[in-house]
This record gives sequence, C-alpha cells and structure tokens, in this order.
Amino acid sequence: MRAAPPTRTDATALVVPFNDLGAMTADVAEALELAWKDVATSSSFVGGRRVEQFEAEWSAFCGTGHAVGVGNGTDAIQLVLRGLGIGPGDEVIVPANSFIATAEAVVLAGATPRFVDVDPETLLATADTILPAITSRTAAIVVVGLYGNLPSMDDILRLAADKHLALIEDAAQAHGSTWRGRRAGSFGVAGCFSFYPGKNLGAFGDAGAVVTGDGALAERIRSLGNHGREADAGHVHTLVGTNSRLDALQAAVLSAKLPRLTAWNRARRTSVVAYRQLLRGPGLRMVRVDGQVESSCHLHVVRVPSRDLVRQRLHRQGIETGVHYRVPCHLQEPYRGFAPDPLPAVEQAAGEILSLPLFPHITRRQVEHVAAQLNTIVAELDPHGG
Ligand SMILES: *Cc1c(COP(=O)(O)O)cnc(C)c1O
Repeated sequence: MRAAPPTRTDATALVVPFNDLGAMTADVAEALELAWKDVATSSSFVGGRRVEQFEAEWSAFCGTGHAVGVGNGTDAIQLVLRGLGIGPGDEVIVPANSFIATAEAVVLAGATPRFVDVDPETLLATADTILPAITSRTAAIVVVGLYGNLPSMDDILRLAADKHLALIEDAAQAHGSTWRGRRAGSFGVAGCFSFYPGKNLGAFGDAGAVVTGDGALAERIRSLGNHGREADAGHVHTLVGTNSRLDALQAAVLSAKLPRLTAWNRARRTSVVAYRQLLRGPGLRMVRVDGQVESSCHLHVVRVPSRDLVRQRLHRQGIETGVHYRVPCHLQEPYRGFAPDPLPAVEQAAGEILSLPLFPHITRRQVEHVAAQLNTIVAELDPHGG
C-alpha cells in the first residue's frame, strides 16, 4: 500500500520515495517498445514464443534446467506443492517471517503450514529453527530468501536430505541472490519466483515462474497451470489443474528487463553498503547477512525502537519507508490455528523492523539524507540506545 504523498515541512528537503519503478522502465524503454510491437503483431498473447524465450532466459540465469512461467508467485509455490503430490494430511514448514503468500500457498494446496521462528539476527528460518518443527507428517520445507538474503543453505540441504523432505525455495525476493556463488532457486527441488512489479525483476502486472532441474516436475507444473492439459494434447485433461499461465506481454517485459537485473542488483548493493557505513548509533541495529550470501538487496531492513514514531518522523521529512512484515504470519487471523506456540524472535522483531528506501536508481545523496535523518531521529527518541 502506498502512503499519501509526504507533507513537506522544509521546502528544500529531498524527497526519497520507497521505490522508483519508473526509472527502471526508462532504462529499458527502447527494448520495451520493440517487444510491444512484436507481441501485438504476433497475436500470441498467452504462452507462445515470447514466453518460451523468457523461460529459457530465466532458467539459464538461475542455473536450472527448466523454468515454467505461471500467473504469479503464490501460484508458483502452490503448483510446486501440487506437482510434488503434497496436499491434505501433509505438513509443510514455513517461516513466520515472510509475506503471507508463502503460508497461503500451502493452505491452498490443501496441506498444513507449520510456522517456525527465525534467527534473531538474520530474521530468516534456519536449520536450527526448522528442526524442532519436523514431525512424521512433514513433507516439505519452504525456505524463503527474505529481503534477498539466504540462510546457510548447506545446513538446510543436509537437514532436508537427512529427513527425506522436499526443499522448496520461495525466492520471490531473491532474484539473483547467491549463496556460495549459487543462485537462489537452484538449491531445492524447485524455486518459486514472483515478478510482481515491485520485485527486483518486475513485470507490468502479475507474473511468476517455477525453476527446477526436474524435467518431469516442470511438465507436471506446466500441465497443472494449463487446466491439466497434457503438452500438445489439445482437449485431453489428465489432471484437475487451474489457470495460471504467463502472458506474452509480461514475458516480453521481463525479457527486456532481465539484461539489466545484475547491474540493478549491483546498484542496490552499493547503496546498502553506504547505508551500513552511514547508519550509526546505539539505537540502530542492522539485520545480519550471512557471509556466504550475495544478496539481491530487495529490501534493506534495520531495527529501531519506537519504530512507528521513527517512521512517522521520516515521512514528515519526505522519506518513505515500509515494514516487512508488521504482523508475523502465524498471528494473522486465518493462520492462528496453525501456530500453537509463540515464536519469540519474529514477534520481537515485528515491532522494530523498518525497510528503508532502496531501488537501483537511488542516489548517494538520497542515501546520505536518509541515513542522516534516521541517525538524528533515533538519537533524539532514544538517547541511551534503548
Ligand atoms: C511477493 C512474494 C510472494 C508472492 O508473489 P505474488 O506474485 O504476489 O503472488 C511470495 N513470497 C514472498 C516472500 C514474496 O515477497
């Protein structure tokens, strides 16, 4: 949800939006122009050559053998679960600190989400927080590359192998993130991506993809998302599927933007390094990132006391921020039944986390301005550091 435009108190103040999609669009304006024309004249609007091309590009980027374009990131997770035969009676482990779609997809697949707490420093579920939630009914673990960061994937891969569980990645915030040089989406049996406009690689509407090294799973997911049709089988429906396909226009936008993704992520990273250097004071805490991770830097999250007051004061200075996420998933009303126990680390963090403006085209001056304002506000509100 976008906040109302800030009321400026100082006419010379620098306005810093939370994100700037227009600047990314402008970077690829020419490629988009050609892509539109091509799609319009092809009359192939759902699936087709443009979608196949983007699928090939995206699987190559992720380092997986296959990519299947789907309608959105939520469907990507749900279709992977269904493609693996996970449903009623099965438990699927999900972090309580995520966008609600991770758990929602599990419920939509008919399975039961089991929420786990996060590491108090990285705010990610880890092998240690996952292990106690494994039961005889656990079928899969969904690892979320939240904020673009990843937990120790070695530990999680070992745990999944030891317990014979499917490892699924929700990489909807981790386009291009790596752990020990390997791209998010390529660790598990399948990786799920959203190309919602605000993601690091964003379409001009809803879009998503599943990447996997398993060709048979890819074909099952493709069929499930296409009304249960078998490939090239016309009106033979061998499964009860759904409608979740990628549009040619969205695929064309994604193909036009993908060549810039690495440079855009690098620009985000440069600004995060600057934030880390400039933000200081006993009241300000950073979210830790594992040394093996090169993050997509989808979000830069800090922790501050009196978070809502800090946010309001930044807003008054023309600086827009976000909170990811204000209410942990297990405390959202429809999901309360799936979380018998409190999850202290995520519950503690939810009141403190603040996502700072971050996008490829944010300027050094804007980052310095945000950092200076935040340092001042936190010092004023909390002179002794909490
Ligand atoms: C955006 C997001 C999703 C869902 O993607 P949609 O395309 O909106 O369905 C799932 N998980 C995470 C972590 C996300 O950030």
